[in-house]
Amino acid sequence: MPELPEVEALVAFLRENAVGRVVARADLTALQALKTFDPPLSALAGLEVTGVTRHGKFLDLDVSGLHLVVHLARAGWLHWRTGLPAAPPKPGKGPLALRVHLDDGNGFDLTEQGTRKSLAVYLVHSPSEVPGIGRLGPDALLVDREQFAALLAGRHGQVKGALTDQTVLAGIGNAYSDEILHTARLSPFKMADKLTDDEVVRLYDAMRSTLTDALDRQVGQRAATLKGEKRSGLQVHARTGLPCPVCGDTVREVSFADTSLQYCPTCQTGGRPLADRRMSKLLR
Ligand SMILES: [Zn+2]
Repeated sequence: MPELPEVEALVAFLRENAVGRVVARADLTALQALKTFDPPLSALAGLEVTGVTRHGKFLDLDVSGLHLVVHLARAGWLHWRTGLPAAPPKPGKGPLALRVHLDDGNGFDLTEQGTRKSLAVYLVHSPSEVPGIGRLGPDALLVDREQFAALLAGRHGQVKGALTDQTVLAGIGNAYSDEILHTARLSPFKMADKLTDDEVVRLYDAMRSTLTDALDRQVGQRAATLKGEKRSGLQVHARTGLPCPVCGDTVREVSFADTSLQYCPTCQTGGRPLADRRMSKLLR
């Protein structure tokens, strides 16, 4: 799932390549992706892209006062396209959800892989009309240490859940929370409101460094290569069974119904593996 650094890199890319261009047409091929109906997508035609910004993990194209807001969800992505074909794409086939044509013949595709379709597109007059944006907590890159400590202190539950709850802190998802907790040498199951002052400082510094390192790697990349870049920078996330680059211990995972987390026992949990219901079931 694209998180703050990937979406920020897309913002930077679109600022350079789409701002100043006029939208020629928007072709919707996955009807369920569009969550609003007024104004219609056809209202974009003839309007200039005047700005691009980000709200947490939401991408926001300002098209002369209309906001095309995109939540890429788990398997969505934006592909920049040069020389788009003029013929409209066939609806309902393949991963394409929305194609936006610009007046210079270029444009972009919003796509979503897999069968669980949760990519969401909104066309609104103000981004605050998008429910997920209205509920966002402060941006992970904009909170200071005191704010961050207060957010965690007010949150009952595990620190992994606090970091990924967009109403607490905006921009961090499953991958970067694994990375941040690994850098901070904290168990994902620690209680957010029970962290010591020292742990909160470590977590805050780890969040800043993880996100800014990822941003440095990604901003300036072409939209097509951003995803691979994310993977290459990861230390524990999606690396189950591989050695931890810090200590050499084997990266382990805990599985949930539809997701999983990865961590290093030596770096994060005093060498003890965390309970994993699926693993213990398999071993029984
Ligand atoms: Zn380690």
